[in-house]
Amino acid sequence: MLTPSTTLCPSARAEEGALLLGVVAPDQSVKMLTEPEPLTAELAEAIAEIDAPEQQFRFANRCVKSGCNQWHDGRCGVIDLVMSFNQHLAEPVTLPACAIRSQCRWHKQNGPKACTLCPFIITDSSQTEQERLVYIDSPAYAPGA
Ligand code: SF4
Repeated sequence: MLTPSTTLCPSARAEEGALLLGVVAPDQSVKMLTEPEPLTAELAEAIAEIDAPEQQFRFANRCVKSGCNQWHDGRCGVIDLVMSFNQHLAEPVTLPACAIRSQCRWHKQNGPKACTLCPFIITDSSQTEQERLVYIDSPAYAPGA
């Protein structure tokens, strides 16, 4: 069960007990919901009918640390990898609205820059890291928009 003190992974699998956090828009950026929607058994079942839901939505769930393949040296390797490709980004002036910021693993670990990159991270992405970097450098990228 998730509580207000649970540290959350913002790129979790679509499964009962998770939170529906955002929707992948046609421009491949993630639009965060104002209020995350808990995945009840019924909603989880409905989402399971969708092909590759992690390509179309972002979900949050408990960060399981060493129980996750992405956990390395006491850190989440997902956001560290994306940060390593985007070291040129300046510190953000404004952050995208996010309902889970106080509980988010990526924000706790990497601070506001994680929030700048977060909308461009798709959990189940067919894009290569190079394609993501090109996208972030494109005119479509607008920090804080
Ligand atoms: S916007 Fe920031 S706080 Fe919210 S899920 Fe993304 S990294 Fe975490």
